[in-house]
Amino acid sequence: MTYILVILAIVFVGVVFYLAQMVVMQLEQRADEDVLRSKETYQKIIEQKARAIAEKTRLEREALQIFTLYDMTKEITRHFDEQEAFDIFKRKLKEYITIEDPRMVEDIGQSEAVPEGYEIFALKSKEKNLGHLVYKGVPEKDKEKFAILAHQFALAFRRIKLYKEIETLAITDALTQVYTRRYFLERFAEEIQRAQVRKSKLSLLLLDADHFKKINDQYGHLTGDETLKQVAQILRENIREIDIAGRYGGEEFGIVLPETDMQGALLVAERIRKAAAARTIKAYDAALRITISTGISAYPADGKMVEELIDKADWALYRAKSQGRNCVIAFGAYNSKT
Ligand code: GH3
Ligand code: MG
Ligand code: MG
Repeated sequence: MTYILVILAIVFVGVVFYLAQMVVMQLEQRADEDVLRSKETYQKIIEQKARAIAEKTRLEREALQIFTLYDMTKEITRHFDEQEAFDIFKRKLKEYITIEDPRMVEDIGQSEAVPEGYEIFALKSKEKNLGHLVYKGVPEKDKEKFAILAHQFALAFRRIKLYKEIETLAITDALTQVYTRRYFLERFAEEIQRAQVRKSKLSLLLLDADHFKKINDQYGHLTGDETLKQVAQILRENIREIDIAGRYGGEEFGIVLPETDMQGALLVAERIRKAAAARTIKAYDAALRITISTGISAYPADGKMVEELIDKADWALYRAKSQGRNCVIAFGAYNSKT
């Protein structure tokens, strides 16, 4: 009996032990599976993190590029001068990429235009050639950025050029290529102000083509137009860069000579008179001669305002006409003689 009980006890313990082992094994297996799943999840999270970081870097790079373009364009659009725009572009280039000695070259055909070892980038906008950027030292990694910035600069540069062209059209007399009356008067007023501030002198010439009506009558209006164009050309050839020439009326011109007293103005007017009288004007089939009469007034001796100076020069011009034309009369000089 005891013997049977012992055997039963052993069997019972064996079964319990076996069952316990099974349970433990199952628990271990489940734990292993959990660990595996966790591992996979962890792996996925790591991969997602890496993708997110890559995307963040890409977005940051794109944002920086957009910001750079925006920043550069914003600064350039504040300016209407080609040189200033290029200086800003140069500064921005150096801020964002590695580059050495960028220059702007209009004509790369010239021998010294592109030094040894420099690269060339054609600035184009809407198929229009705007010149060339010449530069060196841009590393491979910055080349794409450089191209984007340069393209953006080309757009801004074209806008400045267009603005200038429109401005020039608006202030230039189409036939004679000197300033329009309105702009001439504006500039005249500015020059008077400048002379006031600097306590300097300036002179005004009013020039009128002699017997112009006869030219129209004899040769026709078209030839008259061409003659006027060439008269304006003579004026332009005989003045300085800082002098301001405008078409005051039909065949009447005005020239403001900054920093010039009456004596200086007389010399300029005489030079113009002689040049016109000596020239044979060829217009269409005609070869004709023309003379010019000129009246001069001077700031501050003859007046301090635009209107006053114009009146006095006009008066002197009237005198020149009545004295037989093809001559120069200065208001002050004439007045002091009479
Ligand atoms: P004066 O020596 O006294 O100045 O005589 P003038 O004939 O030049 O002067 P007037 O003022 O009597 O006539 C000016 C002429 O200039 C008349 C006008 O038809 C002509 N004229 C004005 N503007 C133009 C233009 O743009 N083209 C042409 N062809 N003629 C013009
Ligand atoms: Mg005339
Ligand atoms: Mg006239």
